[in-house]
Amino acid sequence: MDQTHSAPKVLVTGGAGYIGSHAVLELLAAGYRVVVLDNLSNSSAESLRRVTELTGKPAPLVVGDIRDRGLVTDLLAREQVQAVIHFAGLKAVGESVEQPLAYYDNNVNGTIILLECLAAAGVRALVFSSSATVYGDPQQVPVPVDAPLGPTNPYGQTKAMIEQILGDLAISDPRWALGILRYFNPVGAHPSGRIGEDPRGIPNNLMPYVSQVAVGRLAELAVFGGDYPTPDGTGVRDYIHVVDLARGHVAALARVLARPGKFTVNLGTGRGHSVLEIAHAFEKASGRRVPYRVVGRRPGDIAQCYADASSARQLLDWQAELGLAAMCADAWRWQSDNPQGYGEAS
Ligand code: NAD
Ligand code: UDP
Repeated sequence: MDQTHSAPKVLVTGGAGYIGSHAVLELLAAGYRVVVLDNLSNSSAESLRRVTELTGKPAPLVVGDIRDRGLVTDLLAREQVQAVIHFAGLKAVGESVEQPLAYYDNNVNGTIILLECLAAAGVRALVFSSSATVYGDPQQVPVPVDAPLGPTNPYGQTKAMIEQILGDLAISDPRWALGILRYFNPVGAHPSGRIGEDPRGIPNNLMPYVSQVAVGRLAELAVFGGDYPTPDGTGVRDYIHVVDLARGHVAALARVLARPGKFTVNLGTGRGHSVLEIAHAFEKASGRRVPYRVVGRRPGDIAQCYADASSARQLLDWQAELGLAAMCADAWRWQSDNPQGYGEAS
C-alpha cells in the first residue's frame, strides 16, 4: 500500500507500549498512516521516536488517556481515522488482584468510553488486544478458539468483559467490524534491537526475567514449579515472537477494513515450550549462562497452555513464522544493546 494521503489512517491506542510499538512499525511498513494515543503510564515516547527512525515514517503521538472523552472526541474529529487498534490497558495480573477497581476502570470503562466516542464519530472498525488468560485453566490443549472462558483474576475478567461488550455491540449494530485477538505469550523484540519490552521494576514474565539474568541485572531465575504434569515438570506456554504478533494485527486490520462483523482468533504458534527449554534456548542465543533454581509453584499458574491457531490461518491468512531461536536472539539483542531499556533515552 502507498503511503499517500489516501492510505487508511489508524488510531493505535497504547501504541507506545511493547506490542503497540511493534505493531505501529509493521503498520507503517505496510503503508498505513497512524496516530498513537497513549498516556505513557507504562511506556516511553522514545519507542515511537525509534519506530520513525527505523521506518523513515511519522508515528505521531498524542499523550492522553482513552478515558478522556473530550480529548478522544477532538482527536477523532481532527484525524479522520478509518479504524482503531486498541492496545491501551493495564496488564499485570498480580497488580489487578491488588487494585481491581483501577483495572476495571482503565480497561473496561476506558474501552466503553473509546467505543462511545468511535460510534459518535462514525468509526466502526476496531481490533482489540485480548489474551489467552480469558481461558483460565484450559480443559484441553491446544486451546481451540471456542473453548469455554474462565478467567481467574481481575485482569482476565476485564478482557472477557470487553469481549462480551464487543459481541453485544456487533449484535446491536451490524455496521461494526470487530476483531478480537487472543494473544498467547508475546516475547522477543524487533530484530534491529532498537525497540523491545521495557518492563518497569523487576519483570513478572519469564522472558524479560531470563534476559535480565543473562545480562547480569538479576542473579538467577526462580523456576516456578518442577512438578507439573509436563515433559520436564516445568510450565509450558505458547511463546510468540512480537513481530509475528504485530503482523497478525496488520492482517486483522485488513479484515475489519474490508467487512463488518465480529471475529475472534487465537494468536500463537501452536507450539508449547517449557520454562527450562526457554532458559536453555536463551543461553544458546546469548552465549551467557542463565543460572536457575526450581522453587515452588506460583499461585494461580497453570501447567500448560498453547494455541490452536487455525482460526487465524483461516480468517486472516496469518500464521507465526518465527521460532524460539529468533525469539531469544532478538530479545537478547534488545537487552544487550539497551541494558536499561529506554531508560537513558527517554
Ligand atoms: P504495555 O503496557 O507495554 O502497553 C500498553 C500501553 O497502553 C502502554 O503504553 C500504556 O502507557 C498505555 N495505556 C494504559 N492505559 C492507558 C489509558 N487509559 N489511556 C491511554 N493509554 C494507556 O503492554 P503490552 O504488552 O504492549 O500489551 C498491549 C495490550 O495487549 C494490552 O491490552 C495487554 O493487556 C494485551 N496483552 C498483552 C500480553 C502480554 O503478555 N504482553 C498478553 C496478552 C494481551
Ligand atoms: N515463570 C518462572 N519464573 C519466572 C516467571 C515465570 O518459572 O520468574 C514461569 C511461569 O510459572 C510460567 C511461565 O514461566 O510457567 C510463563 O510465565 P509468564 O508470567 O511469562 O506468563 P503466563 O504465566 O502469564 O503465561
